Amino acid sequence: LMQIYRPLNFIGFVYREIRQGLTDIEEMFKLLDQNPEIEDRAGAKDLEIAGPVIRFENVNFHYDADRPILKGIDFEVPAGKTVAVVGPSGAGKSTLSRLLYRFYDVTGGAITIDGQDLRDVTQASLRAAIGMVPQDTVLFNDTIAYNIRYGRPDADDEAVRQAAEMAQVGDFIASLPKGYETPVGERGLKLSGGEKQRVAIARTILKAPSILILDEATSALDTKTERDIQTALDRVAAGRTTLVIAHRLSTVINADEILVLRDGRIAERGRHAELLEKGGLYAQMWSRQREATEAEEHLRKATEDP
Ligand code: ADP
Ligand code: MG
Repeated sequence: LMQIYRPLNFIGFVYREIRQGLTDIEEMFKLLDQNPEIEDRAGAKDLEIAGPVIRFENVNFHYDADRPILKGIDFEVPAGKTVAVVGPSGAGKSTLSRLLYRFYDVTGGAITIDGQDLRDVTQASLRAAIGMVPQDTVLFNDTIAYNIRYGRPDADDEAVRQAAEMAQVGDFIASLPKGYETPVGERGLKLSGGEKQRVAIARTILKAPSILILDEATSALDTKTERDIQTALDRVAAGRTTLVIAHRLSTVINADEILVLRDGRIAERGRHAELLEKGGLYAQMWSRQREATEAEEHLRKATEDP
């Protein structure tokens, strides 16, 4: 029996190794946000940043031709300002960020940065200008230091440490026996969603991009983690042209413009107070989140003092 078992076991081993390899490749693509279908146009020039001002001009987009995802999206993020996108799950919010990073090309209309169509500039220069903190950060199978330094490979240890402090993850790293040399990722220490997100924020702080895309985490974070992440995000967004996809409306109160996306269209737009006054979808989402937060608080208090 062992004679049969051994080869089978070996095949199982090889299979697992191959699967792990494939997972790594997939994760590399996710990490680098490379879509092999997108290529630089012949004679593409490097993006030249002035503002930078981002414009979505009547943008249409579909992943599959029979199912439009974005329909006639028109907005501008002025230099140094923040535009927030809110709306129900599946509305197309993350798709907006993928288009801005040129993970896909628009299927109608155009996206420009300082007047340059994204399709006319090199991907390398576009991605050098953009810092993206995605909803679900995937870390490299390497040390925490490596994962942060990826934002700017020539950064020294002190700069890496400062970025981690600003991202509110410095104390956590310091508490680990191997500190910054702790291996993370699939084969290292498993970080929580909030910890991974703060490592991604540290990486972005170090990169110091002129354009920032934030896709906030939906996962239920405890209040302190949420506050820490918010502080970190506010710091990295200050003075940068920022597109933020917000799941918690409390984070968009100060946005220069809020877009309410529903079913691939901008259903409402304005500042927080204007949208509340309007009494539409945004106002509904706001009161629903308020109720949920109050219920949470209530439950917490009830369990704390019996
Ligand atoms: P949101 O971030 O608002 O929740 P997304 O932009 O992620 O929404 O997705 C919008 C729609 O596009 C959803 O219906 C989703 O199922 C679909 N979608 C997202 N990614 C893909 C993809 N790679 N291929 C096909 N459909 C997709
Ligand atoms: Mg999303």
